[in-house]
Amino acid sequence: MLKPRKTHHYIRQALKNDCLRAAVGKATDLAVRKRQDLVNETPYWEDLRHHVHHLKSKVLENPEQSLMTFEARCIANGINVHWAEDAAEARQIIVDLAAQKKVKKIVKSKSLTTEEIELNPALEKAGLETWETDLGEYIVQLEGKTPSHLTMPALHLSRYDIGRLFEKKLGIEYTDNPNELLQVARQRLREHFLSADMGISGVNFAAVEEGAFVVIENEANAHLSISIPKIHVAIMGLEKLIPSLSDLPYFLKVLAPSATGQKASSYVNIIGGPQQHLMEEGPEEVHLVILDNGRSNILADASLRETLFCIRCGACLNICPVFRQVGGHAYGWAYMGPIGATLIPLYNGLSEGRYAPFLSSLCGACFDNCPMRIQIPKHLLTLRNRIAESGKTMLIERVGMKIWSMLAVRPRLYRFITGLAAIVQQLIPFDKAFPAPGYVRHRALGRMDSKGFRSRFMDSEDRREGGR
Ligand code: SF4
Repeated sequence: MLKPRKTHHYIRQALKNDCLRAAVGKATDLAVRKRQDLVNETPYWEDLRHHVHHLKSKVLENPEQSLMTFEARCIANGINVHWAEDAAEARQIIVDLAAQKKVKKIVKSKSLTTEEIELNPALEKAGLETWETDLGEYIVQLEGKTPSHLTMPALHLSRYDIGRLFEKKLGIEYTDNPNELLQVARQRLREHFLSADMGISGVNFAAVEEGAFVVIENEANAHLSISIPKIHVAIMGLEKLIPSLSDLPYFLKVLAPSATGQKASSYVNIIGGPQQHLMEEGPEEVHLVILDNGRSNILADASLRETLFCIRCGACLNICPVFRQVGGHAYGWAYMGPIGATLIPLYNGLSEGRYAPFLSSLCGACFDNCPMRIQIPKHLLTLRNRIAESGKTMLIERVGMKIWSMLAVRPRLYRFITGLAAIVQQLIPFDKAFPAPGYVRHRALGRMDSKGFRSRFMDSEDRREGGR
């Protein structure tokens, strides 16, 4: 599994990989263009953004009350509700359930929460045959890696990579024809759907009023994972609540364009309990695992609770100049891109996630593209401050900032030192005139201005005074 503290290493690897950057650039360009076309066609887009933000604020204003009501309604509907305080407890609940029910094979539909809790390795360790059924997730599972995007898990691979992967792992003849590859995956997965004892999915939205949860998808694999096996287990972060199913259309209206540039998602599965009659479609048993894993602390933090409004659409990733250069694995965790950069330290702690909030140019494009109006740049700055205050930054940075703050309050000394540095720099006979570790591996910093900002500023003030 990737680790956020190894971010530097992952970034170096990503920057060396031109194929990865080409694949990421191509896919994100298309997603950005398609989203923008749909937003342009929707004159009330900004109103929608405000409205969904308001709905989420409302339901998470009193999370305990909302969760208690949701649980009670789920139980009344025949859904078995389990609470997991952390990732380990969530994994254990699912592994124990599978053991109790004598499950041998599991089919999974795409779920970032299961990536967050590292469920697959736990299921495999318990001897459970587990298959991802979303095409992108299936490819990533065959590759032995984790998703590199919130909505496009295999974004880092080209069709040639996938052709070689299928040849090696599935023993088929090499082809890079997307249709042929799709047919192979479909054939293999069909066998698994029909023989699985348990289905596992994530949850996109959980409606408090009705005690029902919603799974959104485009491939019908979630529908098959939910409806064919006798037992269904869904796992949701406790922030997935929405007030009611009557609010769902607003979220659907912003989700599909932001996620895949579609007007609407192909399938919206609403699960409000197990099948009631023998001839009905659906699982005989439904279990819902509600995961905390640090979310309560985030909800209690007034300045950062808004980060939990995320609906995992991926629009902020597609537009982010940093993500577009390095892809999702560089962030070292299940969530990536601008929203990942805020969630990584929040879920993993400031020490483990200390590099993530710095993976941003703070250009603000993520906020402009976020359908939930999450002020990501502001939250990144809050986290940067907290990391700096807790002393988790690099030693060289801490020493540098100490020296700078010492000089900044002594203007004469500051002018003397910077003037001296500019003179010394003029004498250094090479282009990389001000070597800084890491940074100049890819670019020169340029020479310091020998005259200095202050003298230029004073000159311009003098000129202005003279002109009056
Ligand atoms: S932060 Fe906003 S844009 Fe990014 S994934 Fe979440 S909802 Fe989408």
